[in-house]
Amino acid sequence: MDAQELVEWTYRRHRRVALVSSFQAESGVLIDMACRATASPEVLTIDTGRLPEETHELINEFQRRYLIRVRVLLPEPDEVATLTAQHGTMPFRESVELRHRCCDIRKVRPLARVLGQYDAWITGVRREQMPSRAATPFVAEDAAHGGIAKVAPLAAWTRDQVWHYLEKHSVPHNTLYDRGYTSIGCSPCTRATQTGEDERAGRWWWELDAAKECGLHALPLTERSGA
Ligand code: SF4
Repeated sequence: MDAQELVEWTYRRHRRVALVSSFQAESGVLIDMACRATASPEVLTIDTGRLPEETHELINEFQRRYLIRVRVLLPEPDEVATLTAQHGTMPFRESVELRHRCCDIRKVRPLARVLGQYDAWITGVRREQMPSRAATPFVAEDAAHGGIAKVAPLAAWTRDQVWHYLEKHSVPHNTLYDRGYTSIGCSPCTRATQTGEDERAGRWWWELDAAKECGLHALPLTERSGA
């Protein structure tokens, strides 16, 4: 089945579905597809506290243009306070370990705390984004989140396919893409990329040897058949 059909299958097959969105280009495709598949899909997004203003503006624009229920997840204030007290407001620049800790507190844990309330989650991960994502299955059992289904309808899509879809269906996008960004996360951890650079080269660009992952997609998965 194609990506739209897989999104439709996900909503047909599961009672509670979380479309987890960072409001990057892939998220726009999936929100548009989800609104064609079901009425008022629930969209989960993580407000790390460090997102660029442009991302917040885009979230508002999607809420104006699409009938979606946006659920904003926040980090635990005590965990952020402890990290900040120990390492300041920019711990991610000190070491890879502290960067992972910041991502864990601000992104991974807020999502993990709520995913048990759902039967499936949809993500915009694509195989060509990173070597670590090259084997991303379309549908997998997410053991780290209680065995719910993790669905990646765009796993086999190219970047060009994503942008072709956005243009064809007039789906809004983050204006940072128009300023040279090719992947967008937290403001202090994202920069624009140069021609010829890897798509995710602007994420944690000071980490030359580390995998450009925040931990959301580094969980054990078992591929499911039958989708
Ligand atoms: Fe922290 Fe940067 Fe990760 Fe955002 S991307 S959670 S600011 S380390």
